[in-house]
Amino acid sequence: MDLLYKSTRSDSEPISASQAILKGLADDGGLFVPVQIPKLALAMEEISKLSYQETAYEVMKLFFTDFTKEELESCIAKAYDEKFDTEEIVPIAKVNGAYYLELFHGATIAFKDIALSILPHLMTTAAKKNHVTNTIVILTATSGDTGKAALAGFSDVEGTKIIVFYPENGVSPIQKQQMVTQKGKNTSVVAIQGNFDDAQNGVKEIFHDKEFADELSGCHIQLSSANSINIGRLIPQVVYYVYSYAKLLAEGELVEGEALNVAVPTGNFGNILAAFYAKQMGVPIGKLICASNENKVLYDFFSTGSYNRNREFILTSSPSMDILISSNLERLIYKLVGEDSSVNQELMKQLSQEGVYSLKEEMKDQLQDFYGNYATEEETAQVIHTVYEDSGYVLDTHTAVAAAVYEKYKEDSKDETKTLIASTASPYKFTRSVMEAIDGDKYQGMGDFELVDELCRISNVPVPKAIEEIRSAQVLHTQVCAKDKMKEMVREILTK
Ligand SMILES: *Cc1c(COP(=O)(O)O)cnc(C)c1O
Repeated sequence: MDLLYKSTRSDSEPISASQAILKGLADDGGLFVPVQIPKLALAMEEISKLSYQETAYEVMKLFFTDFTKEELESCIAKAYDEKFDTEEIVPIAKVNGAYYLELFHGATIAFKDIALSILPHLMTTAAKKNHVTNTIVILTATSGDTGKAALAGFSDVEGTKIIVFYPENGVSPIQKQQMVTQKGKNTSVVAIQGNFDDAQNGVKEIFHDKEFADELSGCHIQLSSANSINIGRLIPQVVYYVYSYAKLLAEGELVEGEALNVAVPTGNFGNILAAFYAKQMGVPIGKLICASNENKVLYDFFSTGSYNRNREFILTSSPSMDILISSNLERLIYKLVGEDSSVNQELMKQLSQEGVYSLKEEMKDQLQDFYGNYATEEETAQVIHTVYEDSGYVLDTHTAVAAAVYEKYKEDSKDETKTLIASTASPYKFTRSVMEAIDGDKYQGMGDFELVDELCRISNVPVPKAIEEIRSAQVLHTQVCAKDKMKEMVREILTK
């Protein structure tokens, strides 16, 4: 029997996995969730003998039941290949008694690569299965990271095009260089004369423009989004939690059935939700430690049961977690309210109208699986410093938030359960903050690439290809557009 997907906001007819991947978001604005979380079909002991790709198949076949074996294996093979700089895809480093799950060995050296490497293939396969012959055009506004990871994922994938808008002065020099040097004849990168919100709103307007959709449809084009609420991004993230438990078992770090806590630096709540799904599938995961930076909406939510986005937005050294609305949390809320879509819809309405909603007492009881806390900028820098001094291992700023919160958890709970920390970016991606945390005075005033060389020297970790390439790569994208001319730009790109 096929596993179907339903919306969190209405009781409309459930749809197949491939349809949910193609749609991304439900028509009622809700997110798609599987009608139930499947249990693993193999024992951990057996999974521990599998490669990353084989494990991916074991997990995905349970969620994407309307894909054939050949289709899934082909998507997996195309996604997890030499784009990753290690055959293991997600190696685990044991440092100071914790396990760091390195999710940053893909094309853009951050964890979004893992999902965005496979999403394009899942989408084009889903299109074929549903007899969609249109070219799928991905439109994305980015504040830096997602845009590049999406570009890398969709680059030269047949049947797709991708257009990324970024704020002209709102991304770091390295992030900009990464995007404007993107190869692939189906890729376009455009600078917006405005900020990230302008870019984001422009993209949203285009998505809601029915007339424009019809016009594009006449040219056999349909727009789609690659954002993190697509189940085609969420499910591939479940894989690495299953894989790492099995790996630690194989290496004798765990015994069969032993609990493993997981600490995740959290923004949109996608990565930690994937760990929660892995736990429900039967992986012996203990606590899910949800780590926030100073934008601590989630910490407040876990401690009070109220989600409140009415607060100042703080720019931190872990920018990919600077988020006030964690979209994927809706999937957890839906579960907490007993999968009652009308209750969930009401809460989400309160969030969009008043910026706040509160859970009832009995719903809060179900949050036992989670522990939330946050790290300040100082605590984050301090942990980078200490871990480096103690072990020589260099953490990126996002991973450091999780490491700092893990320390707080141990202190609060006295729980000594072994812990896996999701390491979401290479320190080479946030070199300046990382080097300043290691030695503030010494590295001040150095150029970005000087810092890269210095990091290489002190860490003995070779400079990743992703960084090496942009030093010398040719600029291929120079288009600039006014913030109210984005639609015209899309038209020009797609019909030229
Ligand atoms: C996106 C991102 C996060 C946050 O992950 P979510 O799934 O949105 O919670 C954390 N760290 C890095 C480096 C990221 O790019």
